[in-house]
Amino acid sequence: MTDRLFPPLPAACGAFWAGRWHQPDAVLEVTDPENGRVVGRAGDCTAADVDEAVRAVADAVLAGPPWPTWQRREALHRAAAMLGERAPAFADLLSREGCKPIRDARREVQRAIETVRLSAEQADRLEGRTLPFGDTPRGEGRLGWYTREPVGVVAAITPFNDPLNLVAHKVAPALMGGNGVVLKPAEQTPLVALALIELLLDAGVPADRVAVLPGRGATVGAALVAHPRVDLVSFTGGYATGNAIAATAGAKKTMMELGGNGTVVVLPDADVRRAARAVVDGAFGNAGQNCLSVQRVFVAREVADELVELVVQHTTEVVVGSKADERTDVGPLIDEVSAERVASWVDEAVEGGAAVLAGGKRDGTYYWPTVLTSVPADARVLTDEVFGPVVSVEPFDSVDAVVTEINSLEYGLQAGVFGRDLDAALGVAQRLRVGAVMINDTGDFRIDAMPFGGGKRSGVGREGVPFAVEAMTEPKIIAIHRASQPV
Ligand code: NAP
Repeated sequence: MTDRLFPPLPAACGAFWAGRWHQPDAVLEVTDPENGRVVGRAGDCTAADVDEAVRAVADAVLAGPPWPTWQRREALHRAAAMLGERAPAFADLLSREGCKPIRDARREVQRAIETVRLSAEQADRLEGRTLPFGDTPRGEGRLGWYTREPVGVVAAITPFNDPLNLVAHKVAPALMGGNGVVLKPAEQTPLVALALIELLLDAGVPADRVAVLPGRGATVGAALVAHPRVDLVSFTGGYATGNAIAATAGAKKTMMELGGNGTVVVLPDADVRRAARAVVDGAFGNAGQNCLSVQRVFVAREVADELVELVVQHTTEVVVGSKADERTDVGPLIDEVSAERVASWVDEAVEGGAAVLAGGKRDGTYYWPTVLTSVPADARVLTDEVFGPVVSVEPFDSVDAVVTEINSLEYGLQAGVFGRDLDAALGVAQRLRVGAVMINDTGDFRIDAMPFGGGKRSGVGREGVPFAVEAMTEPKIIAIHRASQPV
């Protein structure tokens, strides 16, 4: 990889709270997972820092002047425009500290611009309605309405795999809702999050309403979740962490975007070429480190050989390489421990009788795009979330059995169904217990405005800009009892 210098991002070395940048004594050294080189440093904050930060944001939101909605809209529109201007620097930084090849990093920056712009546009939707007091004798003589008000302080905790857009998905809707927000980005990818907060401040977001505290999950994350002045925890990450957060958060409002194990059903009349192409794109993008990654493909026996042949062919064409190389499709996993874990899960499947049709090779943090078949039912590559570039393809004879099997899985985020007969495809889609089904595509698709999330181990509630703004605000009623009416 060429040693490019990213344009200076002065914020990208500390933390921000109580209206100013801080340089904590301890630092997190952020390294490029491809080669171990240091990309930059961020503060390694403490629980005491969290306490100061939350109190400062809470005081600003609860005691300070409200931030007028029109100013929120203008600041977020400005931020979206500025992110567009600074897009190359953001893409470069995102790619270096994370796992995305440069083309994917550019796409993520464009998504983040869209997320911030959509958040600005929600100003129109922060509306209430009058209440039907006249519809009951007890309401006579009263007039009232509700408005949507901020919940207060939002704690945003984010993972490493989409280190910019997932931060944008929490911070921008929280601000549009009139909240204060304290962000704890992933330990491995804090720099692009710091840069985004710096940009929001430049765009006019009041400095006392936002904070970013890089640091460890067990320290900063846990202290944030436990803090009594945090009103809502918005978390994206793994199921185990989500469980720990739920136990600590107690009765606080929580939004959880957790994992998946991406299922795809290919019906006998499907366009097999289209399905094969989409499966390979969906399985190996970001080296499979994507909650929507395609992990399990159920294909009708009649077309199974054709699909498997095409999937294997496309998989061998995937370019694995340096993230800076424009030709690269698949870069590294986030660290060597993750690559070793993926390798061990594949080995376990092979010991149980699985066949490796492509890939199955590791080199440091890289794991090659891998296609498996004949995988034993209890192998973790089937039952758990791989979060790596591994897809398993199995033929089926009964659609009903496939629906039952998918519905029995512990995850239920998104799924895909391929079939030319839309009536049949729709029949399958309607029976799957997941948050979304894409017909004639894999589940690896979303737009940032749609309600996003799933059930079971995949999450609680829905993100997606309009839905996040709604979840981060509460209806508040004001009612007038006319003085001329009896008490
Ligand atoms: P993770 O290990 O759960 O970490 C996510 C965040 O939680 C990180 O900032 C982490 O800090 C923090 N954290 C760890 N322990 C904590 C605790 N006890 N209290 C509070 N915060 C804590 O997840 P990851 O490995 O970064 O990301 C991968 C997971 O995210 C996958 O399961 C993936 O499916 C899921 N994901 C879901 C979606 C979705 O929208 N459904 C999107 C993307 C990713 P450290 O970084 O310091 O550990």
